[in-house]
Amino acid sequence: MARVDFHCHTKYSKCSNLEPELILKLCKKQGIQGVMICDHDTIKGTLAFKKVLSLNEDFIFIPGIEVLTDRGEILGAWIEEELSTSYFPEVAEEIKEKGGIVVVPHPYDAIRGKRFRVTEPDLPFIDAIEVFNSRCILPRANKKALKFAERYGLKQTAGSDAHFAPEVGQAWVSFNGSTIEEFRHSLMRGETRVEGRRSPFSVHLHTINHRLNRIFRRI
Ligand SMILES: [Zn+2]
Ligand SMILES: [Zn+2]
Repeated sequence: MARVDFHCHTKYSKCSNLEPELILKLCKKQGIQGVMICDHDTIKGTLAFKKVLSLNEDFIFIPGIEVLTDRGEILGAWIEEELSTSYFPEVAEEIKEKGGIVVVPHPYDAIRGKRFRVTEPDLPFIDAIEVFNSRCILPRANKKALKFAERYGLKQTAGSDAHFAPEVGQAWVSFNGSTIEEFRHSLMRGETRVEGRRSPFSVHLHTINHRLNRIFRRI
């Protein structure tokens, strides 16, 4: 049995300060055997993590990206090249062409302005729904996501959406196995389980503080 935190940011996202080395260390400390790095609109974090990992081959690493499309945010899992478009159906197609899978993160988090409001006509483009995101403040956001995934038979993922150290490994997808191939196979067959806890509210204060610091540094 292994656990993968399927949504994590690095310092290559403007809103995070996480060094790839630290993410790896924190995962191991939390009993997490794998992670997907998905920075906002860049694969720089994914590439940096891959370098760090060269000496830790037993760790499961899913390269990824969180893309802001015209419809909201989408996760591309198993993606390690920049994408060429931000128009939703094309983003989804490009992710699939590159061998990746399309995941809708936090679709019912009303507090997030950039959420993708998933509807029935989107289903042919989507592989999975993130049914647990530790950063969703309102529990019903995750519950509604789970209901949507169940109703349409979509695969389910979970992730911490970590931007800061205390968040890493707070949510995960667990599966029977120990390799990335086994993980993808289990995920696509719907044989995985999602588990997690919400991050402490202080992480949102952290985010505000981080944004203000960036603004003041520029002045
Ligand atoms: Zn997001
Ligand atoms: Zn995110």
